[in-house]
Amino acid sequence: MADKVLRIDVDQRPHATLPRRVSYSQMALYQQCGLKFYFSYLGGWREPPTAALACGSITHEVVEHLYRLPNEERSVERAVELLREHGPRMLQMSEYRPFENDNSMKTQIRDAIENLFVLENPQEVVVDPNHLEMELNVEVNGVNFFGKVDRFTQDDMNRVTDYKTGKSPGRYIDDKLSQPYLYALAFKLQHDIDVDEVELIFLNAKEVVRRPVDQTVMLSMGDKLAVMRDGSENDIEASAWDAKVQRLCDYCAYQEACPARNVLAPKPGTAASDDMLRQAGLTSRSS
Ligand code: SF4
Repeated sequence: MADKVLRIDVDQRPHATLPRRVSYSQMALYQQCGLKFYFSYLGGWREPPTAALACGSITHEVVEHLYRLPNEERSVERAVELLREHGPRMLQMSEYRPFENDNSMKTQIRDAIENLFVLENPQEVVVDPNHLEMELNVEVNGVNFFGKVDRFTQDDMNRVTDYKTGKSPGRYIDDKLSQPYLYALAFKLQHDIDVDEVELIFLNAKEVVRRPVDQTVMLSMGDKLAVMRDGSENDIEASAWDAKVQRLCDYCAYQEACPARNVLAPKPGTAASDDMLRQAGLTSRSS
């Protein structure tokens, strides 16, 4: 919830366009702050990588490989072997190399992998390998939506599962459930499959949250997607975006260059603003 909303004019590139397809992350970012969405998707700025992101990516990779194994081979020892195989390889990737020697992050990954075996028995999970990291591409309320589902299972019921690393969601659990709810809607539209349950597995926080799919909530996600697309189309047309000042501004990589946060910040999109973003450690996707 924003403390205040300021409309910020930007110096938009001529013929600037919105991304052709909309993901859940894009929608969530736009809902959080329109100006942040502008910096990221219209300005093409990339935030510095974080240990949390590296931890999440490596953990997801290992868990995916674990569930690609035959059920009887999914032991904690085999999972640790997979971590030894894929962890060092991924830490050589340019975006994760800064965390090569981050032992605290490595411990978090190891904990996450081991906790999976506390939260469920991987040998009992029946999953088609095609349903791991499963891509969804479908029109939702006139918007081209795309997403990647961590796991879709059809044993006792149709269930969409997403793994999370990091802290417990606490009172923000409904926000976290928005993503699998939107995936449930996409499943219905793309495959005519009714998802019965959405599930979030918080590996580090050792929590599993399951909810039966409520049709009203599921359909409301499609409405939110359309509202986001309409709003961003208006913003690009007006060359002005809503800066939503809130507690998350303290963690925003764009805060120095955000006129709602820093009265001395130049107009976003100008060379002076771009310089400020470079100094803050952001990189341009176009360079
Ligand atoms: S500092 Fe706050 S208002 Fe400014 S772009 Fe970031 S989230 Fe938006």
